[in-house]
Amino acid sequence: MSDDIHEVFAVCYATHSRKRSENYIFGDPHDEMTSISYYVWVIKGPHGTFVCDTGFDEAAAKERSRTIIHPVGEGLKALGVQPDKVDHVIATHMHWDHAGNYDLFPNARYHIQDTEMAYATGRCMCHQTLRIPFSESDVLAMVRKVFAYRVEFHDGVEELAPGITVHKIGGHSKGLQCVRVKRGTVVIASDCCHLYSHLDEGRVFPITYSVGDTLEGYKTLKKLATSRHHVVPGHDPDVLKIYPAVNTGMENWIVRLDVAPKV
Ligand SMILES: [Zn+2]
Ligand SMILES: [Zn+2]
Repeated sequence: MSDDIHEVFAVCYATHSRKRSENYIFGDPHDEMTSISYYVWVIKGPHGTFVCDTGFDEAAAKERSRTIIHPVGEGLKALGVQPDKVDHVIATHMHWDHAGNYDLFPNARYHIQDTEMAYATGRCMCHQTLRIPFSESDVLAMVRKVFAYRVEFHDGVEELAPGITVHKIGGHSKGLQCVRVKRGTVVIASDCCHLYSHLDEGRVFPITYSVGDTLEGYKTLKKLATSRHHVVPGHDPDVLKIYPAVNTGMENWIVRLDVAPKV
């Protein structure tokens, strides 16, 4: 395997049913029920294992009425990844559904954008509207990691290992970053675009720090990826249909992203 080629996986851990209109600023004319999925992503290669985002645990799921199907740790173990052996966690942003389970990776270093840490600990958190997607305990846990010398800060575009780069996008959260991984090049968009429909139709998820940066971010995602189908949205259930399961029995749970999608 070349030095900069990696295996990439999406690990689904939870789901939430909601009205379609809840997914878009300006709503949606089709007001039927739909669901969104919750993922963490795993990148395996010659430079070790990188886990992208940490999901949420049962207590947080209860608090926000979400349903965990397979806890994050269980999904990782099914992929042969022991959480306490993980060296690197990439925090795309600090929203509660991406930054929980903060004790699951006791030996990892965390990669986060300067802007996201400043945003999650600064004056914007005095506004209830902007604070909704953050959990105080997740943010405090990240502050503690800073003081334990376990956080690496990034500003804009940075290479974490050959073939793995992070790119600040902003928009949905002020310091949101996506992750580009060479295969072709797959881009783990996380919440830079929640669903394929956001990317394809230029629509925006209602929780956003900046609509403009979100929309500009879609252009960046497309530029970074080999094709539209190499962009992996943060919450689209279709990811589980488009990409093949890692093994029999892992359908609708863990899929390989480093192979051609079924489109
Ligand atoms: Zn988010
Ligand atoms: Zn999210």
